[in-house]
Amino acid sequence: MIPDNDFQDGVSAAEGSPQAASLSQVVQKIRRCAEAAGRDVENIQLIAVSKTRSLAEVKMVAALGQKHFGENTIQDAMTKIPEMADNSLQWHFIGHLQSKKAGKLPGYFQWIHSVDSLKLAQKLSTAMINHSKSSVLNCLIQVNISAEPSKSGLLLAEVKHFLQQLIELDLPCLKWRGLMTIGVKGDEQQTRDAFARLRELQQECRAEFSLDDFDQLSMGMSGDYCLAIEAGATMVRIGTSIFGARE
Ligand SMILES: *Cc1c(COP(=O)(O)O)cnc(C)c1O
Repeated sequence: MIPDNDFQDGVSAAEGSPQAASLSQVVQKIRRCAEAAGRDVENIQLIAVSKTRSLAEVKMVAALGQKHFGENTIQDAMTKIPEMADNSLQWHFIGHLQSKKAGKLPGYFQWIHSVDSLKLAQKLSTAMINHSKSSVLNCLIQVNISAEPSKSGLLLAEVKHFLQQLIELDLPCLKWRGLMTIGVKGDEQQTRDAFARLRELQQECRAEFSLDDFDQLSMGMSGDYCLAIEAGATMVRIGTSIFGARE
C-alpha cells in the first residue's frame, strides 16, 4: 500500500463528511473566541478528542489536516495509533492513568495531560528510558480545580509542592509543560474563575521554578472552550463538537 495514495483518497472522502463541517465550525469558533480575547490563534492548539471513536472516524479527521488527537485509555489508543498512516500526528493522553499501566504509554503518546502522582511520574520516566532514551514525554499536571471528589488531579494548594518534588526527582525523559484541568459543569462564572486561577498558578510556577517550557494550559472542552480561550488556554480538548455525541 502506498501511504500517499491512501492519504489522498482519505482527503476526498473526508471533505464532504459531517466531521469536515463540524471541524471547520470548531476551528472558526476558536478563531472568533481568540480574536474577542485579543489573543493570537496560533497560540491555541486544538486537540481532537477521539476517545471511543472508530479508526475510520479518526482517519477522516486526520485526512482533514487535524494533527493533534486525545485519547483517554491505552487500550482504545493502541487500536488506532499504529494504524494511522501519517506519523506527524501528535497523541495526547488525557485520561486518568494508573501507574502500573505507565509502561504502555511510550511509543504511542507524545503528551500526557494527567500526571497526578509522583509514583506515576517515576513510572513514566522509567518507561520512557526503557523505550528510547532520546525521546521526551511532554507532561502536564492535572489539577482538580473545583475540588470535586469524583475528579482526579491535585488540589490547587498542592501543585507547587508537587512540582518542587518532581524537579528534585530530576526524572529523565519527562518535560514539565504546564497544567490541565476540567471545567465546572454548568456554572459559567465558576468555570471562568477556575480557569483564571489555573492560569495564574501556571504563570507563578513557570516564574518561581524558572521553567521556561512550563507554558501550556490545557483547559476547555466542547461546552466551555470559549471561556477557556478567554482565560488563556493554549490547548483545548474537543470531542463532541467535532465527532458528535458519544454513545
Ligand atoms: C472526553 C474528554 C474531553 C472532550 O470532551 P467533549 O465534551 O466531548 O468535548 C476533554 N477532556 C477530557 C479529559 C475528556 O475526558
